[in-house]
Amino acid sequence: MDLLNTLVEKGLRRELPTREEALAVLATSDDELLDVVAAAGKVRRQWFGRRVKLNYLINMKSGLCPEDCSYCSQRLGSKAEILKYTWLKPDEATKVAAAGVAGGAKRVCLVASGRGPTDRDIDRVSRTIEAIKEQNEEVEVCACLGLLSNGQAERLRAAGADAYNHNLNTSEGTYGDITTTHTYADRVDTVRQAREGGLSPCSGLIAGMGESDADLVDVVFALRELDPDSVPVNFLIPMEGTPLAKEWNLTPQRCLRILAMTRFVCPDVEVRLAGGREVHLRSMQPLALNLVNSIFLGDYLTSEGQAGQADLDMIADAGFEVEGAGSATLPEHRAGGCGSVCGDAETAAGSGCGPAGERCGHDGVPAAAGSEPVPGAEPVPGAEPVPAAGADVLASRPGLVSVRRRGAGTELAPNA
Ligand code: SF4
Repeated sequence: MDLLNTLVEKGLRRELPTREEALAVLATSDDELLDVVAAAGKVRRQWFGRRVKLNYLINMKSGLCPEDCSYCSQRLGSKAEILKYTWLKPDEATKVAAAGVAGGAKRVCLVASGRGPTDRDIDRVSRTIEAIKEQNEEVEVCACLGLLSNGQAERLRAAGADAYNHNLNTSEGTYGDITTTHTYADRVDTVRQAREGGLSPCSGLIAGMGESDADLVDVVFALRELDPDSVPVNFLIPMEGTPLAKEWNLTPQRCLRILAMTRFVCPDVEVRLAGGREVHLRSMQPLALNLVNSIFLGDYLTSEGQAGQADLDMIADAGFEVEGAGSATLPEHRAGGCGSVCGDAETAAGSGCGPAGERCGHDGVPAAAGSEPVPGAEPVPGAEPVPAAGADVLASRPGLVSVRRRGAGTELAPNA
C-alpha cells in the first residue's frame, strides 16, 4: 500500500503525516489490518527496539471528585461502586510502589482524584515521592493530581518527581460534551506548566467515548503539537454508574488502528497502552505490543487489570522484553525528556507518565464503585454506601469489567 510505505518513511524521519493520511489509517479494512500493524511496527522498532516499559499505578485518593468528567467513575455523582478513600500515607504508598517495582515497573504513577492539588496536597505528595525515592532511587515517579497552579510543578520536581500526567482526553471541539467543570484550555495549560516546571510531560487520550475519526485525529495532532514525552492511549472502560456506561463501541481491530495512527503521528514518543486494553483488545493485546512501547502493569485506578504475571508472560511470549532501569526509554535526540535520561537523577527532568492513563481519573480511567470503609485509609466524611448495579447492568459484556478491590487503599496485596 502506498499509504503505509509513505507513513513508514515519514515515521522513520519523524515527519508529521497529513490529516488525510491519519484518517486513512483509521479507515483501513480488516483485510489490511495486519499490514497496518506491520508498518507501524517498523516505526516502533526504529525508535524503541523490542523494549516494553512497565508503569505502575497507585491511586493515592479515590473517588468523590467535584469534577464531572463523564467517563470517570470518580466523578461528581458517580454511582460506580469503586473504592473510596482519602490520601494514602507515605508509608502505605511506598509499600504499594515497592510491589510494582518488584513486578518490573520502571515508573510509578501517583494519581489522585480532584480538580487539582492544594499546596497542602503538594506537601503530602512530596513526602510520598521522597519516601519512594529513598527506597528505590532509580524508579521514575510521575504525579497525576489534576490542574496545577503556579509553582506546584516546580515543588513536585524539587521533591524528586520526574514526570506529570494530565491527558487532553478528546478533541477540543468535543471537550465540552464530556466535561463541563473545566476546559480543554485548562488541560493544555497544566501540561505546559508541568514542562516549564522541569517535569516530563505525559498527556494522552481516551478513545471510545462516541467520538468521530476526525476527533481522534484532532486530539492526536494536538498532542503532537504539545509534544509530551509520553502519550497514554486509553480505551473507555464503560463503568456502570457513569454517564458513558453504555458506550461499548470499540472492537479490537479499531483499537489497533487507533494505536497505529498514534504511532505514525507520534513516532518517537513513548506511546503507552493504557486503560481498557483487557476489555477491548482482549486476545489481541499481544499484537498491540508492535505499536506501543509501554503499558501499565496489573490493576488500574478503580478497575482490575489482568494479573501482573500475565502481563509479563504476554510480553515474553510476543518476543518483547521488559525495559530495565538502566535503559533509556526515549531515543537520544529527545534527551531531556523522560526516558532519555531515566535513572539519571540529575537530569531526569522528564519521563512520561500514564494512566490514567487510565490512569488518573485524570487519565481517563474510570473509577469503579464501592463505598465500604477501606482499611488503612482515612475515612471520607459523607461517603455513602452505593447500591449494587441492577441485574441488567453489563448484560451485553458480562464479566469484562471488575472493580478494583485489592492494592492501594485495601489490606490486600497489590496486583503486580
Ligand atoms: S478525571 Fe480526574 S478530574 Fe475528572 S472526574 Fe475523574 S478524578 Fe475528577
